[in-house]
Amino acid sequence: MQTESDILILGGGCAGLSLALRLAADGENCPSTVILESRPHYSNDRTWCFWDDGSAHLRELVQHRWPIVTLAHGEHRISVDCHTIPYAMIPAGHFYAHATEKLAETAHVTVAMNETVIGEPRKEGSLWRVETRCGSRWAKRLIDTRPQRVPQRGAAVLWQSFSGHEIECEEDRFDPGVARLMDFSPSKNGRITFLYLLPLSPRRALVEVTVLAPDPLGPEDLTEELAAFIRRQVGESSHAVLRSEHGVLPMGQAAFDRGTDVSHVRVGVAAGGARAASGFAFQRIQRWANACAAELIAGQPPLSHSSDPWITRAMDALFLRVLRAHPERAPELFLALFALEDPRRIIRFMSDQAVVADYAAIILALPPWLFLREIPQVLWPQPSLREGDPIG
Ligand SMILES: Cc1cc2nc3c(=O)[nH]c(=O)nc-3n(C[C@H](O)[C@H](O)[C@H](O)COP(=O)(O)OP(=O)(O)OC[C@H]3O[C@@H](n4cnc5c(N)ncnc54)[C@H](O)[C@@H]3O)c2cc1C
Repeated sequence: MQTESDILILGGGCAGLSLALRLAADGENCPSTVILESRPHYSNDRTWCFWDDGSAHLRELVQHRWPIVTLAHGEHRISVDCHTIPYAMIPAGHFYAHATEKLAETAHVTVAMNETVIGEPRKEGSLWRVETRCGSRWAKRLIDTRPQRVPQRGAAVLWQSFSGHEIECEEDRFDPGVARLMDFSPSKNGRITFLYLLPLSPRRALVEVTVLAPDPLGPEDLTEELAAFIRRQVGESSHAVLRSEHGVLPMGQAAFDRGTDVSHVRVGVAAGGARAASGFAFQRIQRWANACAAELIAGQPPLSHSSDPWITRAMDALFLRVLRAHPERAPELFLALFALEDPRRIIRFMSDQAVVADYAAIILALPPWLFLREIPQVLWPQPSLREGDPIG
């Protein structure tokens, strides 16, 4: 098979489908677009959460909103009233169904499932050539959303590894009005571990164990902790596992090769799509998709993710350095941030919407000496955070 299109999107996950949706929304102006997705079909493989200030993208797909979130460490628990900017969740299954339905309505976009891209694209004349298991594809512009490399120590300051089950109990166990964002366990082996619990009804919840650590962890590394967390939540009450999810997200990524040809960009969670200090990516990807689609429709080259403002980058880098150097202090630091008199400040900061007063309040809430000591590392990083090099 040999086919040519204006745009090839490699990978039909969150970034690939989001971009295609924005292109398709422009009707007849939509360039001919092909998405190459290796999966044979979509499943409800993850949940996307974000703070919904009313301007969030794809709000119509939200399944649940929590007006209260809690953080806890031992006896110390804080409850944050965020009803004006609730924590919201979109199940990936809703998003995939919405995207495939919308894209099926336009002849300008083709989603080629079960079509795995092999190797790196090559430029031949003015076209990009992409090899897949089914043949060759050609396009003028290329948007590559495939994960760029296998997660490994040194490719990020910390890795956020998580594994969870959506469970259904036989008795009421949960408060669907309260999301438990971080329930910390004592820090061990340089790891920061916490429970993340999103109740969907009195009997149903997503229960996850999350570990922030220099090494990425697979689901098998988290099995015991997840089982213990679930036991603690449901006690002797029997429960069914409805589905499972696992992820490894970079926090403070090493630089990656952006290439030199403007007609080819790398995007998505592995290429600057995720916020360094939190791993939040969904709404950032939506904002990128809007901007990138506008450029493409105007006949311009595709956009990669734009850099965060320097203050955000500096604060994220410093925060991650401190977490890595002092994992045992993580509960105290996160609890201090959410205990701010106006918790909307930390929510805006995590959602890329911070104003100057938010930055100031956040800096003042944290212990200064812990952070000052790490400033040299941020200003003059060891060469170890260059691509592929391991960190100390
Ligand atoms: C379990 C989980 C939960 C998450 N929860 C949140 C959250 O609550 N909030 C938040 O903001 N972010 C969250 N994230 C982070 C981020 O939003 C997601 O990872 C998001 O899916 C990233 O989008 P993406 O397009 O970069 O990657 P993906 O959605 O993973 O898309 C990449 C696509 O490329 C395809 N692909 C890979 N290789 C090939 C190939 N060779 N050929 C063709 N196709 C290929 C894959 O099958 C996949 O569909 C979560 C991530 C995970 C894994």
